[in-house]
Amino acid sequence: MPADASNPYKRLIRTVVALGTRPEAIKLSPVITALANAPAFRPIVVSSGQHTDLLTPFIAHFGVTVDHQLNVMEPGQSLNRLFARVLTEFDAVLGADVPDVLIVQGDTTTAAAAALAAFHRRIPVAHVEAGLRTEDPDNPFPEEMNRRLVSRVARWHYAATSSHAENLIREGVPSDAVVVTGNPVVDALQGILSRREQSPELSRLLSATAGLRRVTVTTHRRESFGERMEANLRALRRFVEEHPDVAVIFPMHPNPAVRAAAGVLNGVERVWLTDPLDYSDFIGLLAESWVIASDSGGVQEEAPSLGVPLLILRENTERPEILDTGLAKLCPTSDDLTVMLEEMHRTDAAARPTDNPFGDGRAAERIVAALAAAFGVSAGVPA
Ligand code: UDP
Repeated sequence: MPADASNPYKRLIRTVVALGTRPEAIKLSPVITALANAPAFRPIVVSSGQHTDLLTPFIAHFGVTVDHQLNVMEPGQSLNRLFARVLTEFDAVLGADVPDVLIVQGDTTTAAAAALAAFHRRIPVAHVEAGLRTEDPDNPFPEEMNRRLVSRVARWHYAATSSHAENLIREGVPSDAVVVTGNPVVDALQGILSRREQSPELSRLLSATAGLRRVTVTTHRRESFGERMEANLRALRRFVEEHPDVAVIFPMHPNPAVRAAAGVLNGVERVWLTDPLDYSDFIGLLAESWVIASDSGGVQEEAPSLGVPLLILRENTERPEILDTGLAKLCPTSDDLTVMLEEMHRTDAAARPTDNPFGDGRAAERIVAALAAAFGVSAGVPA
């Protein structure tokens, strides 16, 4: 549909928001809500279906509706096939809807392929969570390359921190195309914390582990699959077996590689293996944890607001700010994980909330304001 000429605003900016995975749903929901509340914009939400099971509950939770549900997943398909399907299916949506701008977030195959599809159609791309870099194309794989690709095709870059903005400027992105907005994951997290809802499932889990030091675990990254993931889970198994005051809770990603590795923890006393939790329950669990052990990116951005110590199950991090808070340590190997867990147990590590370097809860508002400015309109006031 073309912009409505009778609209009191200069333009109604048709904004396709692309998402496909759990972190995209969490991080883009505050942006979609802010766009919907800004009369100058008309958000159109397109989900690739990259993580349908994981995504649907999140979307519903934030009150966001999907306008176009694509269906790009096939069991066991290669990354190339997935990329090709996202590219082709987004091309069809962009061709039919002809938006003024496409918003993508982060570093997924959905983000990279949708951005390329928009670029080919000469639709400008705005990138949320821009400028993260490890400088190692293999870690995280393929995300480091996905986000570099998006940076090359995007016109506007919304960075969570000034160091992410500097990464982009160093690569030649014009500084007036980069805005430091914070990461909208902090907006989402603050919304959840202010509601403090707890499902019966989480209440049961917390009662069953009351009085124990809860180690909450998530691991699902492609570069962790196989022996590395199993070695970390074996280290956790030894730790819980040797410390009767410890419980391990592992909300398992549905990826078959994760489920297979989790067999290492099957039947071990004081270990809870669960399906993924909804966002509200997961944050509720993190807040009640003694330590988090995770290879997730989003969890690194959430931990500072909760103040819970984090062991990062990775060789490197594109979020060095979390290391600067002193709250998190990298654990490249399972031996590092064991050493860190033992040290924390010995020194009785405790939660201590710190300022969150990734945002202050107003990122979505800044992103919408920056986008409105780029189109020469006010986000909310008739021109
Ligand atoms: N998360 C969740 N339920 C779970 C596990 C994770 O809601 O059972 C949330 C978590 O709080 C974070 C996001 O999912 O915001 C992270 O997603 P994931 O680890 O899949 O991706 P990454 O952040 O590594 O890209």
